[in-house]
Amino acid sequence: MIMYSRVNSSAATLTKNRTEDSITPASGMCVTCVDGCIGMCEIGKSAYRGHEVIYPQPFGVITTASEKKYPVDYSDFNIMGTAVGAHGIEADSDKALFPSVNLEVKIGHDKKIKFRYPWIIPGIGSTNVAKNNWEGLAIGSALSGTGLTIGENVGGMDMEATITNGKISDTVDLKRRVKLYKDNQRDGYGAIIVQANVEDTRLGVQEYAINKLGVEIVELKWGQGAKNIGGEVKINDLKKAQELHKRGYIVLPNPTDPNVIKAFERGAFKEFERHSRVGMVSEEGFAARVEELRKAGAKYVFRGRCRRRHRNEPMENDE
Ligand code: SF4
Repeated sequence: MIMYSRVNSSAATLTKNRTEDSITPASGMCVTCVDGCIGMCEIGKSAYRGHEVIYPQPFGVITTASEKKYPVDYSDFNIMGTAVGAHGIEADSDKALFPSVNLEVKIGHDKKIKFRYPWIIPGIGSTNVAKNNWEGLAIGSALSGTGLTIGENVGGMDMEATITNGKISDTVDLKRRVKLYKDNQRDGYGAIIVQANVEDTRLGVQEYAINKLGVEIVELKWGQGAKNIGGEVKINDLKKAQELHKRGYIVLPNPTDPNVIKAFERGAFKEFERHSRVGMVSEEGFAARVEELRKAGAKYVFRGRCRRRHRNEPMENDE
């Protein structure tokens, strides 16, 4: 058996083996697993602090990546550039100079979206890592004329958002994120995109972004590249957990249950988990939603799922 994944101990789960130099490759267990070990490996820790091991630690301030060793990866390939002719510039030795190459791309059928450079930053959502680094991402992307996607749950997780009859009618964080991009956008290049998952769709986040914030491009998202299910975050504030539960999120354990409230207040556990639902897409449902968004004023609808986290791309925990 060939094992590419590192099992049973990782800095991401704050676990390690007792016999660090003698580990059974298939299971990752110490070669001698002793009775009485406090269980510092993942198997041991999962046995008594189960759900904590599914979240990389320390939660909320990290991006994480897989430790899997792929047998072949992109570094095994060399991209050999052409030495004949030129692309993106006239094939003239005096004009085909490195800084003069035009990397501009246009996306779309009729009303094309123009990017100065051929990349887009995929959905970066409601977590602190995204929020705390938004200025650099938004201003940099806007000045560069490239695309930036506001990920799922930014409206729904905003404790200062106003929700009227179950729909978002005002926000602080989403508004700030869009404004930072738009204030720095130049000559119509680039795009700010608002992504939506099941909860965002129910809360009308994209309709709000189109009508109130002037967003023209939206992205429908279901699942994530790394694990298919939706984003997860931890909440260490009871009131916030209850508010998110009220807004329609799955919050575990149920923060409105009197026994759970008592246990939290006694310190039996310190964090709630907020989960996003998995979108159950169908061709007809997708087409109907695209039509709704067009009618609401969207110029373009992207079909997305979180594209991060293939191999060692950063994964913010966890949206
Ligand atoms: S529980 Fe067993 S496998 Fe895990 S660290 Fe202890 S001795 Fe090693």
